[in-house]
Amino acid sequence: MRPTVLLTSSTVVLLSVGCASHSRIITAQGTRLVNLSEADPTLIIDCRYATTNNFVGVRMYPRNELWLERGAATRLMKAQAALRRQGLGLKVYDGYRPLEIQRRLWEIMPDPRYVANPKNGSRHNRGRAVDITLVDADGEELAMPTEYDNFTERAHHDYTALPLEIINNRKLLRDTMIAAGFTALKTEWWHYDAQGWEDFPVLDVNVWGEPLFPDGMDGAKQPVVAESE
Ligand SMILES: [Zn+2]
Repeated sequence: MRPTVLLTSSTVVLLSVGCASHSRIITAQGTRLVNLSEADPTLIIDCRYATTNNFVGVRMYPRNELWLERGAATRLMKAQAALRRQGLGLKVYDGYRPLEIQRRLWEIMPDPRYVANPKNGSRHNRGRAVDITLVDADGEELAMPTEYDNFTERAHHDYTALPLEIINNRKLLRDTMIAAGFTALKTEWWHYDAQGWEDFPVLDVNVWGEPLFPDGMDGAKQPVVAESE
């Protein structure tokens, strides 16, 4: 079991109690956030916001580690178990996102179609949203309509000018997540919300205990979006 993690917010306590396995839990405003890879080590964590390989081009999270509200994490593990029975699995790009990150994203891209206004907070800020894709038994991503965070029509669920294999992969992900208790987002094939997300508070907790934006904001780029919509 790991030592106590120091967090800046006074509303946070760390409980070294088990989830499905012995995962750390951070409690803030009554919401329990679970460390995803500790809760389910079979999940592949590929946190793009901990790298420069994301739509704003800067590192926002200090390391490749994702957290999710506990009920949402349980649902995600249910989806993962269903996929593993088919020789597949999930790769997770994003989960809980501190409100401070949301404010920065909004500064760069103030378009509510793609980034939630920090005034109301995003579903990711409540720990009830995940960004995911499917992987095979070797951890290789299955073909999907676009890469992650592609803000064009091609990423929409109703976009059908695609090879049948890709439509089937998108559908398998969607069917699996809905069966596990999530809802899909019309404009992003990779984004899923655990049902009842509205009942959870927006949180601004630095779950990593290290500074956000470890390299600063230099190099932030303007995202490319579809002009036709
Ligand atoms: Zn998302």
